[in-house]
Amino acid sequence: MQYLFDVWDKVAHRLKSADHILLLSDYDGTLTPIVDKPELAALPQEIRKLLRKLAKNRRYTVGIISGRALADLKSKVDLEGIIYAGNHGLEIEGFGSSFLEPIAEEMRPFLQMLNQALSATLRGIKGAFVENKGLTLSVHYRTVDGTEERKVEDAFSRITDPLHVTGKIKITRGKKVYEIRPPVDWDKGKAIAWLVAKCKETRGKGEALPIYLGDDLTDEDGFKAIERNNGVSIFVGEGNYQSLARYFLKSPEEVAQFLKML
Ligand SMILES: [Mg+2]
Repeated sequence: MQYLFDVWDKVAHRLKSADHILLLSDYDGTLTPIVDKPELAALPQEIRKLLRKLAKNRRYTVGIISGRALADLKSKVDLEGIIYAGNHGLEIEGFGSSFLEPIAEEMRPFLQMLNQALSATLRGIKGAFVENKGLTLSVHYRTVDGTEERKVEDAFSRITDPLHVTGKIKITRGKKVYEIRPPVDWDKGKAIAWLVAKCKETRGKGEALPIYLGDDLTDEDGFKAIERNNGVSIFVGEGNYQSLARYFLKSPEEVAQFLKML
């Protein structure tokens, strides 16, 4: 990966010569610092202002793609005139329409039961909890004592392994979080490809240059989709991380700097 600010002239040239820019970003860890409790991850006021300004600019279409539930994401970002993709893109609102992955929707009651079973199993481990996001579940263990992490993993495996091996659920891992998803072939990458196509269809002319910023394992699908669409993929974190992104920025503060430069 190249440090984006080292090659800024080259990237700026591509941005300037593009007809339109589809600016997409992850939320947690990319626009906000990672915090112990996900409900406390607030969008910095400076970033909200910059995103609002870009969303009003006719050269830009702005969107946020997150593992959070759509309603939660919208209330956290609190901006009008942008695209929101929640639950890794299983639910999307933007371009005047909405998308809801049908199998995921059908599985809501099942995930609710799984939520109860997991919550009961994890009850004895301090700091571990399940977040029910409707179409997916997250098991958080950021504040669990290091010596207890193994217990979380064992409890999680005991409940989810039989469901995983029979293809009833998908499991992904992030920063101190396990995620349970419905068994559908849909992820941030597919959501980005859908948005790129939708952007083209809506504008009806010329290509839009897609950009995606992300900081975690689930964002790798996004980087792949961006590279396939000749876009600009930016990993947020240390540059020695193994990522499919072409560029990196070191922190959400640098992302704010980047947005300012846009
Ligand atoms: Mg993230």
